[in-house]
Amino acid sequence: MKKKYEHIFFDLDRTLWHFDENSKSVLNNIYVNFKLNKFIDSANLFIDKYQEVNEALWMLYRDDKVTKEELRWKRFDHTLTHFNIKDNKMAVEIGDYYITHSPKQTLLLPYTIEVLDYLSKNYQLHIITNGFEEVQYIKLTESGLLTYFDVIILSEKVGVKKPHPFIFKKAFSESGAKAKNSIMIGDDLYADIYGAQRVKMDNIYFNFHKIEHNKSVHKEINCLSELLNIL
Ligand SMILES: [Mg+2]
Repeated sequence: MKKKYEHIFFDLDRTLWHFDENSKSVLNNIYVNFKLNKFIDSANLFIDKYQEVNEALWMLYRDDKVTKEELRWKRFDHTLTHFNIKDNKMAVEIGDYYITHSPKQTLLLPYTIEVLDYLSKNYQLHIITNGFEEVQYIKLTESGLLTYFDVIILSEKVGVKKPHPFIFKKAFSESGAKAKNSIMIGDDLYADIYGAQRVKMDNIYFNFHKIEHNKSVHKEINCLSELLNIL
């Protein structure tokens, strides 16, 4: 059982790199540096609204209904507008600040390094990510992850995003992997799990927040350390 797989494909954001906490720390800095306390009662109010707006825009981005350039500043423009701040220029400046500082954050999900140390001895490890090309390498380098991975597949380079089958097929051809000797690990039931299922690749749903769902998944974990027993 343990040697069924030769290749492990990881998602990056919210699977290894602690997107939510890293993002929060930059958003707190934005609240202070852009003096948003003049308009918004607390940093948490700002962060909660931003996350809601960003999530909605990301879904549109994933389906190619919003461009990357629009996403970058509109998520802040919509957030500021919610608090009656009409300032496009500030939204653009905050968007730039965010994209410059967030990839330099280095917090990883618990047990990321222990698990990668263990897995890298027995498997070839790869990344498939929908994140922006110019920030994903900074995240991987700054957080010490880059050396663990053989192939890094970026949706922007491939031209389609997960869950499109072509990005997984591209990952197979670049790594020399096949669906039957590979497994995908990710936190997103649609992009990662449904995407893997479409190319008949086994999958592990990393359900860190223990969200209830009714989707069929190959395996499910709540902590990366569980991989030490599974793989
Ligand atoms: Mg993810």
